[in-house]
Amino acid sequence: MMDTRMGTKALWAGEKEQLVHGATQVPVVHSVSFGYDDMDEWYEVAVGNKKGHIYGRNTNPTVEAFEDKVKILEGAEAATSFSTGMAAISNTLGTFLFPGDRIVSIKDTYGGTNKIFTEFLPKQHIEVELCETGDHELLEEEVAKGCKVLYLETPTNPTVKITDIERMVKAGHDAGAIVIIDNTFATPINQNPIELGVDLVIHSATKFLGGHADALGGVVCGREDLVDQIYHYREINGATLDPMAAYLLLRGMKTLHLRIERQNSNAQRVAEYLQTVDWVDDVFYPGLENHPGHDIAKKQMRGFGGMLSFSVKGGVDTVRHLLPELKYANRAANLGAVETIVGPSRTTSHVECTPEERAAMGIPEGLIRYSAGIEDIEDLIQDLEQAFAKLPDGLLAKG
Ligand SMILES: *Cc1c(COP(=O)(O)O)cnc(C)c1O
Repeated sequence: MMDTRMGTKALWAGEKEQLVHGATQVPVVHSVSFGYDDMDEWYEVAVGNKKGHIYGRNTNPTVEAFEDKVKILEGAEAATSFSTGMAAISNTLGTFLFPGDRIVSIKDTYGGTNKIFTEFLPKQHIEVELCETGDHELLEEEVAKGCKVLYLETPTNPTVKITDIERMVKAGHDAGAIVIIDNTFATPINQNPIELGVDLVIHSATKFLGGHADALGGVVCGREDLVDQIYHYREINGATLDPMAAYLLLRGMKTLHLRIERQNSNAQRVAEYLQTVDWVDDVFYPGLENHPGHDIAKKQMRGFGGMLSFSVKGGVDTVRHLLPELKYANRAANLGAVETIVGPSRTTSHVECTPEERAAMGIPEGLIRYSAGIEDIEDLIQDLEQAFAKLPDGLLAKG
């Protein structure tokens, strides 16, 4: 399996062991527990000497197939899954950070992650240093002062900023830190951080991995010694992935390769189109040559991803008029689905922040996040054209 290509892996990887009765698809095993008539065998499985399942909070065959597929796509040694992406993030941080420890990260992490950094970790007397995203020198300086964890996200939500993974891995490992990255936006199709030396890769499987906006889930993969500790934290604390959700995510992942190829090219075309629109102030997409992270993105990504954002003249008023006119876009908080999704950043990714915090993060109130779906590109562009054409001229003068 390891020498096959990504599309083939997305279909076949991780499933074989779970196929029973000649089934060609992974069964959804809803059983909460797994029984043993042989007391010695039960004991051997329970203490981990023999492969098998004991209780659904710990492991489950459907969930295991999902974990194995992600593990193989990311080229990781091990993987463990969670009920949501945020559970994956909070359980991972909870496994490694204790009072007196220090974590270095960037200002532009996902809104929920940023709340963990600014609200919850300080209450546990964990020191959090958040650097300007993209300021590699500052990150290196802060990491060199010593930290237990270096936590990255690239591209970021919502202005798709890029951090040089290889460079940060070196800084992190020189300081003896565990290097963790949220790879949700890129997906394993576009970026494999483990190849670049990252210790742990996290995904909100709710987004591109599942791809159909019908199941919540999270996953962490990477170094086995670290994943084992995170698994132990999760099996006790209980943020387990449900087998039905695991099945939906697995099924979604069969088309991951096809979806991401289309989403990469749709996002590129939409970004290029938006640059020609008078109403648009800025377009943020790493596939654009004028994007500050373009060269680093080109070096570490195979594709630039399905996510972009743009700011409009007239701010919130323009957003209020424009978004309801789109026919082929859900106005919703999620991203990474087969349908295009739009939303104001102040309502979606960064709703937890105050307007002042958003301003400090370089997120204008008139910023729109655009998650390109797999629609025909001509329809997406025409849809934007007709929506811009309906905007009242008065708004443009205000901008
Ligand atoms: C959505 C998201 C999360 C959180 O995932 P949930 O499944 O909603 O808990 C974390 N990181 C990024 C980059 C996300 O987009």
